[in-house]
Amino acid sequence: MHHMTLAEIARGLADKKFSSVELTTTLLARIAQLDPQLNSFISLTQDLALSQAKAADARRANGENGALLGAPIAHKDLFCTQGIRTSCGSKMLDNFKAPYDATVVAKLAAAGTVTLGKTNMDEFAMGSGNESSFYGPAKNPWNLECVPGGSSGGSAAAVAARLLPAATGTDTGGSIRQPAALTNLTGLKPTYGRVSRWGMIAYASSLDQGGPLARTAEDCAILLQGMAGFDPNDSTSIDEPVPDYSASLNGSLQGLRIGVPKEYFSAGLDPRIAELIHTSVKELEKLGAVIKEISLPNMQHAIPAYYVIAPAEASSNLSRFDGVRFGYRCENPTKLEDLYKRSRGEGFGSEVQRRIMVGAYALSAGYYDAYYLKAQKIRRLIKNDFMAAFNEVDIILGPTTPNPAWKIGAKSSDPVAAYLEDVYTITANLAGLPGLSMPAGFVDGLPVGVQLLAPYFQEGRLLNVAHQYQLNTDWHTRTPTGF
Ligand code: GLN
Repeated sequence: MHHMTLAEIARGLADKKFSSVELTTTLLARIAQLDPQLNSFISLTQDLALSQAKAADARRANGENGALLGAPIAHKDLFCTQGIRTSCGSKMLDNFKAPYDATVVAKLAAAGTVTLGKTNMDEFAMGSGNESSFYGPAKNPWNLECVPGGSSGGSAAAVAARLLPAATGTDTGGSIRQPAALTNLTGLKPTYGRVSRWGMIAYASSLDQGGPLARTAEDCAILLQGMAGFDPNDSTSIDEPVPDYSASLNGSLQGLRIGVPKEYFSAGLDPRIAELIHTSVKELEKLGAVIKEISLPNMQHAIPAYYVIAPAEASSNLSRFDGVRFGYRCENPTKLEDLYKRSRGEGFGSEVQRRIMVGAYALSAGYYDAYYLKAQKIRRLIKNDFMAAFNEVDIILGPTTPNPAWKIGAKSSDPVAAYLEDVYTITANLAGLPGLSMPAGFVDGLPVGVQLLAPYFQEGRLLNVAHQYQLNTDWHTRTPTGF
């Protein structure tokens, strides 16, 4: 049962082959048995899951038939869930029970999903390996000594290990696409504004976007359908109709213009990954796509710009965690300043503190123009590069990451080494564009992802290309040994 995709589950439930309660019970038992190896969950919500599964079965018995009705999922632990711990991977929020559901959580619940739990993540979504979590690292099911990617590492590890068919994630600089690549999943970061951020604990507000992690493009289409849409509670949500993503899967790729940026293949990219990317390009060519070399000349400035803008926004967003209003409070504060200092000093881990300091510095008087304003200008240049490229091509293709998964701890002494892993993903966040990562092969037994980027609101196009690719390849069907 645990090998089924969301699409297969929907068919099985509709054909009454099994009930949502049966499926949910099976998966909860599987999680209890296997998650101790993976550490992919921060909280399990068995009671909620069983009551949602019962309700979904009752709705089906009454003739309802949605694709998500009775489907088991999990939420990254930064989506607020009413009455349930929402930790954001931090000691700061270890005791925080959200007073309301995030829009994404509420929408998916209304569609009939069954929430099995809340998944592990880098603290406040800052990281690329799930190593900064207060709850310890999540493990990659392809090699338990390796990271599953981050920051949505728990969602990725759980789905890759077949503990459940799909999960939500968020992507500020790659945190859906990069863990998808490192665990052999398909992950989609939608256009900025496509999925509501209301109730999603903020890291860098102008970059954060929620999206699906699943095994196939077909499943990403199903989950995204339940997440996307205008939300008056989020001032950056865009009032644009949501297309039928599943209907977009089947278009032909004949004549599709795919751009491959020459800058993607510079030093730093593992040559074995480059090889696999070229193979996937050839596969798409066979399906009718036309390949063109393009250039994104400002890409080299993306990491420095991102690592000014994201910490700047984080330093502002995280100022609310002061020991007074939310979460952790230090013992016996002597005065207000002591309360602030010790609550934040004890509640935040070292990577979060590092980013708050960098961000506060970049925003301070005298440095604002030199760093923050400069970074915003680079951001515009990067967007302009994409706009020029999309005049010539429909899709941009390249690697999702320069390397496969690394050993847990291998980059801990050098934060910049981890930042460099984001080189291919962060440009889409800086420009607000949608991006998808899909399985493209293996290096040393570890999965490799290929990234597709599209113009604004063309999530359907990304899913279409990925689905056609998956109809003709079987990388996405490979299962890690032992799971
Ligand atoms: N690795 C990037 C960072 O640490 C991206 C994280 C994310 O997308 N949430 O900022």
